[in-house]
Amino acid sequence: MSTLSSAQLFARALQLIPGGVNSPVRAFRSVGGAPFFVKAARGATLITADDRELIDFVCTWGPAIHGHNHPRLKSAIAAALENGTSFGTPNPSEVEMAELIVRFVPSIQKVRLCNSGTEATMSAIRLARGFTRRDKIIKFSGCYHGHSDSLLIKAGSGALTHGHPDSAGIPASFAAETVVLPYNDRAALEAGFAANPGQIAGVIIEPYCGNVGFIMPDAGYLACLREITARHGAVLIFDEVMTGFSIARGGVQERESIVPDLTCLGKIIGGGLPVGAFGGRADIMNLLAPLGPVYQAGTLSGNPLAMAAGIAGLRLLEEENPYARLDALGRQLRDAVLAACRTKGLPVQVPQCGSMFSIFFTATPVRDYATALTGDAKLFGRFFHACLERGVYLAPSAYEAGFLSTAHHGAAIDRACDVMTESIQSL
Ligand SMILES: *Cc1c(COP(=O)(O)O)cnc(C)c1O
Repeated sequence: MSTLSSAQLFARALQLIPGGVNSPVRAFRSVGGAPFFVKAARGATLITADDRELIDFVCTWGPAIHGHNHPRLKSAIAAALENGTSFGTPNPSEVEMAELIVRFVPSIQKVRLCNSGTEATMSAIRLARGFTRRDKIIKFSGCYHGHSDSLLIKAGSGALTHGHPDSAGIPASFAAETVVLPYNDRAALEAGFAANPGQIAGVIIEPYCGNVGFIMPDAGYLACLREITARHGAVLIFDEVMTGFSIARGGVQERESIVPDLTCLGKIIGGGLPVGAFGGRADIMNLLAPLGPVYQAGTLSGNPLAMAAGIAGLRLLEEENPYARLDALGRQLRDAVLAACRTKGLPVQVPQCGSMFSIFFTATPVRDYATALTGDAKLFGRFFHACLERGVYLAPSAYEAGFLSTAHHGAAIDRACDVMTESIQSL
């Protein structure tokens, strides 16, 4: 294993990889400073190239819901490895994964596996367009759906952190097919459909937003969205790449009792290996090649190692049903942050559910992109570094959600609460 320090590795990476990173938010641009490199991770802990141990609230952006390098996932991957890494043919574990996904998410009658969340949302959009024979899609400002051209318009996540919600390199003609509306705004939704009569193929939404920080919708908003899309014959796509299954075993749609037409999954269903999936109504999914005219494919789709990791992780979720425990950990963290900010006289909002949470330094309740931006990002940067110095790693941006795993119980969460309290006092 490399014995270079994070600083040495980053200097080397900067020469070879644009910005030294393979995904922009990892570069620490929005909080300042240089990123650390991680050489190993177990449970709630990251071990850096500099041999520091950090309590990790990024959890590889959600997938590590059971903690890093969980023995059950590790042995499942090792067992699969014995049989080979890729076959380029159908394999038994794909069927098992499909069965698990359909059992977890009743709105999914048929599912196709792919390699990332980006592929899942891109393909779901194509399918909605093929099904409705319409071109336009509606998305919501601040919702991130991966980096395909039609969806990188007013997106959150790294695109927001870096101040370029619209990427260069996207033809204006593509962007013109994407209608962007504010999240959580029913009147805007009616107006969006009224302004594009008979043209909206589908609406894609993060039912709980996780890419401008964590935001939950107003009561009734998702039901209203379901009603409007059904009325206009538009396909409702829930992008649950992050919220499936960090919020509930059946995703936000189970928690909110909404039945979307299509659902996108990723992150947790790969157990830390690259996986995506999209599925839903059989009549829509049956339009996919080879049954129908909508093309979608992948050389490594349904990869047996990734399936093994994902299946082991999903089975563990089924056995343990950890959501009440995760929620309790989240509340403990939230209460510590609220109490410390009250003492310090700092305004703060801490939305939290399942394994997800966010810390917004603002007096304004956060309910959409605009109110998320009222959060004091400079102050967040100082808080981030104060926590990091004390051994707690939060997402390196004021606009990314935090994640908990079942491994955060006990000493890890107690220590993290103390560190966050001290860090707030130090601001
Ligand atoms: C992470 C994410 C994606 C993109 O997934 P990748 O695997 O990074 O391509 C899409 N949608 C949402 C909601 C996400 O959080």
